[in-house]
Amino acid sequence: MFGRARNLFERLIIGDSVPALVRWGKRVPRSIIKGIQEDGFRAVIHHAARRQKFFARQLDERGIDPSRVRRPEDLGDIFTTSEDLRSQPAEDFLCGEPQLVFETTGTSGGSKRVYFSYDELEFTARYEAAAMYEDGVRPGDRLVCTFDAGYWISSWVTFLACKRLGVFCSAVGKPHPRDVYSRMKEYRYNVITADPTWLVSFSEIAEQGGVFPVKLIFAAGDRMTEVYRDYVQRVWKCPVVLGYGSTEQGGGVGMECLRREGMHLDEYNYYFEILEPDADGYGELVVTTLSRRIMPLIRYRVRDVTRWIEEPCPCGATLRRIARIRGRRDEMVVMGAGNMYPEIFEQVLHDVKGLSETWQVAVRQEGLHDVLEFRLELTNGISSPAVESAVRENMKSRYPDVWANHLCGMYRLAFRFLPAGSLEQGRKPRRLVDERNPE
Ligand SMILES: [Zn+2]
Repeated sequence: MFGRARNLFERLIIGDSVPALVRWGKRVPRSIIKGIQEDGFRAVIHHAARRQKFFARQLDERGIDPSRVRRPEDLGDIFTTSEDLRSQPAEDFLCGEPQLVFETTGTSGGSKRVYFSYDELEFTARYEAAAMYEDGVRPGDRLVCTFDAGYWISSWVTFLACKRLGVFCSAVGKPHPRDVYSRMKEYRYNVITADPTWLVSFSEIAEQGGVFPVKLIFAAGDRMTEVYRDYVQRVWKCPVVLGYGSTEQGGGVGMECLRREGMHLDEYNYYFEILEPDADGYGELVVTTLSRRIMPLIRYRVRDVTRWIEEPCPCGATLRRIARIRGRRDEMVVMGAGNMYPEIFEQVLHDVKGLSETWQVAVRQEGLHDVLEFRLELTNGISSPAVESAVRENMKSRYPDVWANHLCGMYRLAFRFLPAGSLEQGRKPRRLVDERNPE
């Protein structure tokens, strides 16, 4: 019922207008959003059960009748994983003739291919445009997008979102920050969309050479620490807003509002679950695509770990928010310090002077105790005691809970200092490793 009403409403009342989509979509009561989601879920299950070999096989193996599936729990342990996408032929996921393909490479080798129709890409861009509009992008603005192009989806979605908004757009792949900086005056860009590390280098150039009037910066959120964000905001004197998404999910699925306190999710087109939440509510994000029909993904395990922010957002939007991504599920190590993610150590180490970019933290065992060992490469002849005390100080101030467990004796800290270049042998080392004996 909700699904059909939504389609009619979108077609007749909202039409192509992005401002109308924001106006109508922003304050829909939770009960109606929930109804739209449940209808959308049933519809995509019905579609995939008939047309997607991979999903039909899974239902079959477990003897589940798709017409009885109403919510994700009814599917038991049926998921789609990145390994499935990598190892099974594309035909097993396709439910129709595709017109576009994008790829994504993970940390564990091999690319995942995700197929779309033109209409699906345009549809995604429409919601991306709505999020950008809500954050203040208007016709007449000039946007430069420096997301890596290649087979990735994000620069295309940004490009099409700009087209919808009537915004001048340069989606130029990922040039050197200097190349964009040198064109800022000529093209009068006032909105920037980029990756965090690119933005930091770009801002360093601007700090030296002078800034231009920029009103808004969008950053792909997963590696944007608050320290980076503060720096970029300070240099450009404008808000840096984080977005979240991936090629498998079909581009952006969430974005912060200008309050910048968690990312609102697109619950009209995706059904999100947080799997096996820990005591703090953190668990793995699982997503079902509700609107795609060429290659829908049913309960796709994104592997990113986050939690719901339950309180309603003061901005008034009724779409729920998630907290910043804490890390990848397969990078998590559970130990005496708590649930550890590489992001924690990135936050602790990034501004410690005298260290190279490459580091590793290992969880070891000594007798009955966990040891958290920092393996760090010293540069610039800075003394190891100075580094050690800076690391301890950062842990104490930035992760008081983790530090409290240290004071309670639940784990010990250790440091190993190595000459620059010794950790990196051919490939980047894993940033967090568990070297405890499983016995
Ligand atoms: Zn908000």
